[in-house]
Amino acid sequence: MVFLAASDRYDNMKYNRCGRSGLKLPAISLGMWHNFGGRDIYENAREIILRSFDLGITHFDLANGYGSPALKAEQVLGEVLKSDLTPYRDEIVISTKAGYDAWPGPYGEWGSKKYMVSSLDRSLKRLGLDYVDIYYSHRPDPDTPFEETMSALDLIVRQGKALYIGISNYSAEQTSEAIRILQKLGTPLLIHQPSYSMFERWIENGLQDVLEGGGVGTIAFCPLAQGLLTSRYLEGIPDDSRAAKPVAHLRKQHITEEKLAKIRQLNELAQERGQSLAQMSLAWVLRGGRVTSALVGASRVEQIEENVKALNSPDFTPEELQAIDAILEQ
Ligand code: NDP
Repeated sequence: MVFLAASDRYDNMKYNRCGRSGLKLPAISLGMWHNFGGRDIYENAREIILRSFDLGITHFDLANGYGSPALKAEQVLGEVLKSDLTPYRDEIVISTKAGYDAWPGPYGEWGSKKYMVSSLDRSLKRLGLDYVDIYYSHRPDPDTPFEETMSALDLIVRQGKALYIGISNYSAEQTSEAIRILQKLGTPLLIHQPSYSMFERWIENGLQDVLEGGGVGTIAFCPLAQGLLTSRYLEGIPDDSRAAKPVAHLRKQHITEEKLAKIRQLNELAQERGQSLAQMSLAWVLRGGRVTSALVGASRVEQIEENVKALNSPDFTPEELQAIDAILEQ
């Protein structure tokens, strides 16, 4: 059946300007690290992507290695684009990345020009696209000069294979350096993709200031701490959850009693605010407007539907923010 996007898809989503660029991103974006690979059910992946788009989620995030088996997620999105979303390509922002191990040999990871250029060529083939909207250096390379990685990104933009560039997992100091080099090259850094959640607050110690000063946007990955900051694990480890899967990065041993005690208290606070823990966790990441977009994952449509409602959250009172800090510091 031909997919017809919902006519009200832009009515409820919030779009935030990404740094000082002309690009706006939805406050909630969808990432395809898990649940969009060859071993996952294609129809479920397609349904999540299309429902997300209908809810105003215009940004889909990938990397060369995403999916299980690795590299499959780009292919899955490519198939959905081809079958359903081709007419909507200009309404969609697609990002991909290179940095982690993608193929054997010395040119299959890190940040050389050789790798950055050929990885994007492979990604474009898998996606069936001529260009991506954002191309990232997925991690800083300690052995390649930043000038080389940044000039590879600049070259790619000039070739029209990506419209904007981003970096991910760079420290505050490394980010300052990247901003400086890119300014000189004439292709400003659009965005940084760091981890950020109530359980992972490192960006508050310097990186956020660097990004704001440089006019660079922030898209926070794992805002739900891979599902920990939701109701998913309150009653144990469900068989279909990420923590129960053999290939996932979230392991059963990460779900400690100490963590669960905090999650239960946060859940109570969320209930007092009239929302789910997932919704409060996303509202917290987006509080104060310092984060452009919260980049969530999902294994089913209902999770996305619940998560976008985080945008209707009441503002946090100072007392609530203090209560959250107190729980996290226990
Ligand atoms: P989240 O922290 O959003 O975790 C997503 C998981 O949480 C889902 O798979 C699901 O788990 C669970 N979940 C989501 N919504 C709900 C809900 N409403 N109720 C209950 N459970 C829920 O993010 P991810 O870890 O998936 O990462 C998101 C994206 O960030 C990735 O896809 C990727 O694009 C990016 N990323 C980038 C990295 C980088 O180095 N740049 C590293 C990691 C991620 P379940 O599957 O158990 O149902």
